[in-house]
Amino acid sequence: MASSGATLWVVATPIGNLEDFSPRAREVLQSVALIAAEDTRHSRRLTGHLGIATPLVSLHEHNEIARTREIVERLAAGDSVAVISDAGTPLISDPGYQLVSAVRAAGYAVLTVPGPCAAIAALSVAGLPTDRFAFEGFLPAKAGPRRQRLANLYDETRTLVCYESSHRIAATAADLAAVFGERIVVVARELTKLHEQSASMAASALPDWLAADGNRRRGEFVLVIAGAPTPPAPGSDVSLDALLAELLPLAGTKKAATIAARLTGVARNTAYDRALALAD
Ligand code: SAM
Repeated sequence: MASSGATLWVVATPIGNLEDFSPRAREVLQSVALIAAEDTRHSRRLTGHLGIATPLVSLHEHNEIARTREIVERLAAGDSVAVISDAGTPLISDPGYQLVSAVRAAGYAVLTVPGPCAAIAALSVAGLPTDRFAFEGFLPAKAGPRRQRLANLYDETRTLVCYESSHRIAATAADLAAVFGERIVVVARELTKLHEQSASMAASALPDWLAADGNRRRGEFVLVIAGAPTPPAPGSDVSLDALLAELLPLAGTKKAATIAARLTGVARNTAYDRALALAD
């Protein structure tokens, strides 16, 4: 167990605008013996710009376990170390989890210098409920698993936050439109940068919005998706059968069951079974 004052500092860096780098982040990066960075060449530009001369070592998904051992040894020798990522808060869709977990287990202090995080920045400007939200990170890269993931999230009542790259934004937009339809999506791109933009629309409108201007598909994206409406408590006054009786002549069994489940608060499967029985 550790007894020295050696500390692992988890330091957030800007997501675009260098002016967002905090004075305390600078002080900490200057004072530690070593900075573990995702891409040392990328981070050297930042430390060079700020006049920070602390040595950098790489810490990325392919060397995190080996590097963690070395960093724990440095802490054991009494050195403090900082971890940063290419942009934003380390560990948030970025390396650092293995390191922080191992350093804590070894009994050393882990302290934060909080700062920019694209997910929180997007959520704070999206105008969607923020009291409860679910961060989904990057959606699966392949179409099938991505659609499945989105379908699984359809009933989630919390606001959803996802990261996306310019390579996949158009494909993901098509899937969002197919799964979420009229649900509101806020697309937040290039936050804190020159071409920062955040636009709110129905998911079904997102593919056309992106197609209308090539610039809208450029840069880095956060997608903030409105949660499903909260269903009333089960056992509320609305009768499932009465509702289905009204809906079935107007919509297919599946759609009628989905709407009735939402309005009555019963499980979708239960409503579907009942709809099938009534349709018979
Ligand atoms: N650790 C970072 C954070 O705290 O936000 C996230 C790193 S993750 C590898 C990179 C993704 O974050 C990008 O693909 C994009 O989805 C999102 N992102 C990063 N910077 C952004 C920005 N300035 N505007 C919008 N999204 C951004």
